[in-house]
Amino acid sequence: MALLEEPIKEVRIIKNYINGEWVESKGDIVDVVNPAKCQTIAQVPISTKAEIDDAVAAAQEAFPDWRATTPLARARCLFRLKELLEENFEELSRIQTQEHGKTIDESRGETRRGIENVEVACGIPTLMQGYYSEDVATGIDEWVIPTPLGVFGIIGPFNFPFMIPLWSAPYAVATGNCVVIKPSSEVPNSQTRLAELADEAGFPPGVWNVVHGGRTVVNGMLEHPGIEGIAFVGSTPTARDVIYKRCGETGKRVIAQGGAANFIVIMPDTNIAATIPALMTSFFGNTGQRCLSGQTLIVVGEDDGFYNNFMDAVTDTASRIIIGNGLDEAVQMGPLRDKEKKEKVIGYIESGLQEGAKIRLDGRGKVKITGDWPDTCFLGTTILENVTPDMRIVREEIFGPTMGVIRVKNLDEAIEICNTNPYHNADAIFTSSGNNAREFQYGVMSGNVGINIGIVAPMAFFPFSGMKGSFYGILHTQGKEAVRFFTESKVVIQRWL
Ligand code: NAD
Repeated sequence: MALLEEPIKEVRIIKNYINGEWVESKGDIVDVVNPAKCQTIAQVPISTKAEIDDAVAAAQEAFPDWRATTPLARARCLFRLKELLEENFEELSRIQTQEHGKTIDESRGETRRGIENVEVACGIPTLMQGYYSEDVATGIDEWVIPTPLGVFGIIGPFNFPFMIPLWSAPYAVATGNCVVIKPSSEVPNSQTRLAELADEAGFPPGVWNVVHGGRTVVNGMLEHPGIEGIAFVGSTPTARDVIYKRCGETGKRVIAQGGAANFIVIMPDTNIAATIPALMTSFFGNTGQRCLSGQTLIVVGEDDGFYNNFMDAVTDTASRIIIGNGLDEAVQMGPLRDKEKKEKVIGYIESGLQEGAKIRLDGRGKVKITGDWPDTCFLGTTILENVTPDMRIVREEIFGPTMGVIRVKNLDEAIEICNTNPYHNADAIFTSSGNNAREFQYGVMSGNVGINIGIVAPMAFFPFSGMKGSFYGILHTQGKEAVRFFTESKVVIQRWL
């Protein structure tokens, strides 16, 4: 199949978007590299403290008028943004593939999920309604008004460059707040294009700002007294030790969604034909770089015949996944985001082998790539058996196209393994028994639970959950929880004189 046209054709230095203007940064510049071709596609600034301060000041100044804009009028900007996102759907998707490496279908799914959050936030006049009690005492009424707070920082990871800031930003601005978004500097292009569309949609200057960079920008947000809260998605060390800790110290609201090392449990009564494709997406989709990816497969039961048939089917299908440049529509798995990430995944495979795992499918070595691309960032699908719950490849987040396989006797043992892992983001079971499904969803302490679903991605009108080790905070991104996060309940009591 033909290679789709690339939307980014020349290398440009990306600008910040502050107060409705495109502003050149004074910070250092680093290359943004397409990992499929090892080709620089843009240069991104590592913005300075003064630049994040400028963005916060612009957002603070925009806040009073934006807050006073009616929720219906604010929603109209979001409706217009939704239209523009639909009109530019394919371009936005191809930008994600070009900067991240994921397949075009994965990018299209990401664009769709991002737009769905804008659609949900369009319902803000209803979502933001307060409540009222008459006669809480004689002649006294009491009511709650959800009130925006001011300026919020939104910080994204590299693996979903377009969608993840949209888990928060539409709700933040719909509720009357202003935002400063810091995309991952590895993949800054889709947020830049999104800001262009937000500008076109008519958000007033200062409501929607984007400042590119790294720690200086994040620290600038954490230290700034004008930032009321941070919605962060990234790895657990950053979520827990930097964002959650520092927001606690400075009294800011915080959502800090972290990493994952998820389990998929296979019961012997599962429908094998329907389960295999779901496992391929779960373990190898997005090249395993998803916080919802399966990392460890737990096969339940002592029937060697079932195990061998099942694993033969899994291995055969995994070995035939077509690898290449994600802009080739025939490709089913793209490269890892960069060479360092690939080396980290290989390091995990080797640690598994040293700890006693056995290789069943080896993705290291020469990878069979469709098309003439350098193999620098590509890694083949890898399956390791004889895995035990204490191994690093089970307890730490790998973030690559690998599957570790553990065998257990019964469902209780499987649930215990899920629950004693340091991460509790997303676990799933494949079974045709309602009782097994009920026992699993009740017993497993994980934020997102799948039943016959390999990627437990909540829709935009549900919270994007996560528990211990994978999440720090109380409210989550998306839907009603995001509306609550971005508003404070103002309680009013009135006595009728
Ligand atoms: P990361 O933590 O390295 O970076 C995330 C953001 O924080 C980036 O914008 C980065 O510039 C900034 N950052 C990184 N280190 C920092 C530091 N020490 N101080 C201040 N800022 C810092 O994460 P990543 O590698 O970009 O993303 C992958 C991770 O995100 C994985 O662990 C994945 O599981 C997780 N993730 C979680 C969810 C979820 O909903 N729980 C969703 C997607 C990704």
